[in-house]
This record gives sequence, structure tokens and C-alpha cells, in this order.
Amino acid sequence: MVDLKGQYLSLQEEIDSAIAEVIESTQFINGPIVKSLGKELEEYLSCKHVIPCANGTDALMIALMALDLKEGDEVITTPFTFVATAETIVILGLKPVFVDVEQDTFNIDAEKLKDKINEKTKVILPVHLFGQSSNMDVIMEIAQEHSLYVIEDNAQSIGAMLEQKTGKLKRTGTIGNIGTLSFFPSKNLGCYGDGGAITTDDEYLAERMRMICKHGSKVKYYHEIVGVNSRLDAIQAAVLRVKLKHLDTFNAHRLGAANYYDAELSEIAELKTPNRKYGTHVFHQYTIQCKRRDELKNYLKERGIPSMIYYPVPLHLQGAFAYLGNREGDYPISEHLSKQVLSLPMHSEITKEEQSYICSEIKKFYTSN
Ligand SMILES: *Cc1c(COP(=O)(O)O)cnc(C)c1O
Repeated sequence: MVDLKGQYLSLQEEIDSAIAEVIESTQFINGPIVKSLGKELEEYLSCKHVIPCANGTDALMIALMALDLKEGDEVITTPFTFVATAETIVILGLKPVFVDVEQDTFNIDAEKLKDKINEKTKVILPVHLFGQSSNMDVIMEIAQEHSLYVIEDNAQSIGAMLEQKTGKLKRTGTIGNIGTLSFFPSKNLGCYGDGGAITTDDEYLAERMRMICKHGSKVKYYHEIVGVNSRLDAIQAAVLRVKLKHLDTFNAHRLGAANYYDAELSEIAELKTPNRKYGTHVFHQYTIQCKRRDELKNYLKERGIPSMIYYPVPLHLQGAFAYLGNREGDYPISEHLSKQVLSLPMHSEITKEEQSYICSEIKKFYTSN
């Protein structure tokens, strides 16, 4: 699905020397390299504060911790996402409240949000799934109207731009109060282990989140609030600094590959190619909706073509969230998608030859079966 080796080989010298530099310095945690990465990300995203942390799940947890919520407060999010999104809500004693997604973008349906807002609602947590922004204009309008916080789970969409109603382009993750990033190796900007970051323009929240990452302290051994240990290590920051310089090129390659898939696959009646509705798409995944999905997946596998199902079970039907009492049929679009989605190979090194083979096999499957 991804070619991490190929990408490494194309940057080998730069990455090896950046890692060697960290080892020489023996500054393995935080330190100047982590700080520089934070600054470079602030510049890239045009956002005031980027706080590196240990992973994207922690980023979500720290963002929620910074808001001073009370047990039982409600956080509205999507059931069609990676588990981390809702898991962190539950860990903090908050209640996840799901709103179904738009079938064409896989993202939370902002038009259905209002029905779920009550006096306990405190946060809207949209996920920019697969590389495309959610409907942020409407989400921000609703949030302002009801005085709610907005945390954007931007783990899959670093680099994507939202085109706002005003025509202004803004990076995803910098529109709500807080954005969260993951640098898991297979993400669009991935390191060689775990990594994450939190983004915000808000001075007060930035200071709180910086403290929470460091056991709730500004000055070592003086703990003003309860925090956690969530640090990015310097070797990961060194890798990320090299790769950040190439992120736009990587994303452009993904977009080119998506255009190729679109051109080859859009004529097939049994499948639907992904759309681009809210600004620029960075195609973390290229996800089709298709008939006889499992059969197609097996057919491709037999021909040496990997594919993945993101996500086979929506969160409201997972055992971990059964206590919420949601039932089959509650979020029909997410349920439908979980039976029809298939993500095709997509990464910054994919070649036209590989894609040509993948597309011809998909066409064969639908014409010969
Ligand atoms: C990857 C991911 C996360 C979690 O990031 P980790 O770094 O793996 O903890 C959270 N939300 C979404 C949507 C993700 O894709």
C-alpha cells in the first residue's frame, strides 16, 4: 500500500546525516531539533503554535484535556474514522456523540450536526478523512452559534487546503480552535516511529497544551496542572524536518496518481471514484466505493495487488462503544460505506506502470465477472 523503502532511498543521504547529527548531539528528547521542527511546521501551516508530541492519539487527548471539560460533556464526531478519534473522548470521561457522514466525502455531515447539540455539547471533532477537509465553513458557523470548541483531527490530511466561503485558502487543522497531526510512518508526513503534533492559534490553549505534554509543568518539578508524558524524540523530528521540505512534492505526486486512477476507473459503472469537494485533496488514501468489494479485493490480492478496507466496522458498532447503546441502522451511510469502500495503493513513489496494471486488473474483474 505504501513504499516507505523507496521514499527513504530517494532521501537517504539527507536522512542518514540528520539522524547521525542527533546521535552525536545526544539530545534525544525535545531540544533544538524538535523546536526547529515546530517552527518549520508553524510556517508551513501558517499557524501560530505547533506543539510536537508523542503520537496522533496523544495529540487528540491533549487537545481535549486543554479545554477543561467536565465528565459527561459531549463531543460530536464521526463514526467513520480510525478508533483513536472516539477512544480519546472516552478515556477522558467524555461522551462521544456520533453524526453520520456524507457519502461522497466520507466526512461528517455538517447539515446533520444541529440535531445532536444540547446543553452538554462542548466540542465538535471533525476528521478530515483520507486527505480532504470536512465542510468546515458550516461546522464553524454552527460552533460559533452554539459556543462550541472545534478540534480538527488532521492526522490524514496534512497539506490539504480548504477553500473557505470567502475564497481564502487555509490549511486544514488551522481553522478550528485546535488541530491534531499524526506522523505515523504511513501518514503523508511520516517519521520512522511514532510522532504527532497539536496546532493552534490560541495563546492560552497553546500554553496549556505545552504544559500538559510535560507533566503539567512550565518549570521542571513544579506541576500546575495534571498532565501526561508526551514528547517527540529528536530522531523522529530530524526525519520529519527532512521530509517536510518534500511534503508538497509528495502530495503533488499523490494528486497526480489520483488523477490517473480517476481517468482510468471513472468509466466503470460498478464503482465510484472519490470526489474533491472542499478544496485541495492530498489523497492520504484513494478510496473507491464499489460493488462486490470483498470479491474484488480477493481478485486483486491473487494478482499481487494490495488493497485495504478503511474502515470495515464503523465505530458505533464496535464492541468498545457498545455501552453507548447505538444500534445497526443508526448511521446508515457509515454502515453502507463500511461494506463498499476499498482503498487502492497510493503513495508518493507509485509509478504509472503500477497504476496501469492495477487499473487494467480492476477493469478485467468487472468485465469478465
Ligand atoms: C492515524 C490516525 C490517528 C492516530 O494517530 P497515531 O499517531 O497512530 O496515534 C488519529 N486519527 C486518525 C483519523 C488517524 O488516521
